[in-house]
Amino acid sequence: MIHNMPVKTLVHKDLSIEGYSRAAVQTYWRVPELKIGFDLGAQPWSFMATPTWFVSHTHLDHVVALPAYVARRRMMKMEPPTIYLPAAAVEHVEKILKLFTRLDRGRMPCQLVPLEPGCEIELSREHVVSVSATQHTVPSLGFVVWERRRKLKPQFQTLTGPQIRDLRLGGTEVTEEKRIARFAYLGDSAPEGLDNCTAMYEAQVLVLEITFVAPSHRKDKIHKFGHIHLDDILERRERFRNELIVASHFSTRYSGKRIRELVERAVPDMLGGRLYLWL
Ligand SMILES: [Zn+2]
Ligand SMILES: [Zn+2]
Repeated sequence: MIHNMPVKTLVHKDLSIEGYSRAAVQTYWRVPELKIGFDLGAQPWSFMATPTWFVSHTHLDHVVALPAYVARRRMMKMEPPTIYLPAAAVEHVEKILKLFTRLDRGRMPCQLVPLEPGCEIELSREHVVSVSATQHTVPSLGFVVWERRRKLKPQFQTLTGPQIRDLRLGGTEVTEEKRIARFAYLGDSAPEGLDNCTAMYEAQVLVLEITFVAPSHRKDKIHKFGHIHLDDILERRERFRNELIVASHFSTRYSGKRIRELVERAVPDMLGGRLYLWL
C-alpha cells in the first residue's frame, strides 16, 4: 500500500474511524465498515476504495482532492463514486471536473448529489444518513449516520410466534423502526451546528472541530468565522451523551503538545475519558 498522506485510526465498537484533520491544511475521514467517507481535503491512496463521500463544505482543505479521487477510481477501473455535497456547490464542482477533464485528457465519471439540511440518504437496509444545518462562512452541512432495525411493537412482545404470524398475515404491522445514531460528523461550524441537531449530542461517536483551544483567542471572532472554541464545549459539557467525542481540526498556530496541555488544563477529566484529541 502506498502511504501518501497521514492516516490515524481509532476503533470504537464495530466502527473504525480513520482520517486526519488540521484547519487550513487538510481534512478527510472515513468509516470503512459503513463504506463512506467525509470530506476530500486530501485523498490517502488507501481511501480510494471507499465509494461514497459526503463533503461538509467547499473550503479547499475539505474538497480539493475531489478531482484526483474521481480520476484515480477511473484509472483503477473502479465504479464511479457517489459524492454528496451542499447543493450550492454542485454546479461549480461540475465545471471544475469538466476543466480538469480537458487538462488531464481523462474522463471524471462520478455522481454528484446535491444536499440540503433535512435530506435523508439510504445507504443500505441498515443505515441512513441525515443531513443537518451547520454554521460556517460558506454553505455547510453536518451528517448523522443512523442504524435502523425493525423491532416488534411493545404491545405484541408477549405474543407467541404463531400469534404474531397470524397478525402479520391479517395485515397488522407488528414491527416498528428503531434508530440508533451511531456516528456524527459536524464538519466546520460555529456551536450552532451542534445546538441545532440533538443527534450530534447523542450519536455514539461524534467527530467535531475544536479549531481554537487557547484562552486568549476571542470567541466572538471565532464564532463569526464559523468555528468552535474549547470553551464552547465546556459550556455544553452536560449535553454530550456521546460515548466517544473526537476533537479535531485544530489550528496550525498550536503544536500538538500545546493542544494537549491546554485541553488537559481546561478539561482535566477529558469529559469522563470520552474526549479524544485527534493529533
Ligand atoms: Zn476546515
Ligand atoms: Zn471551513
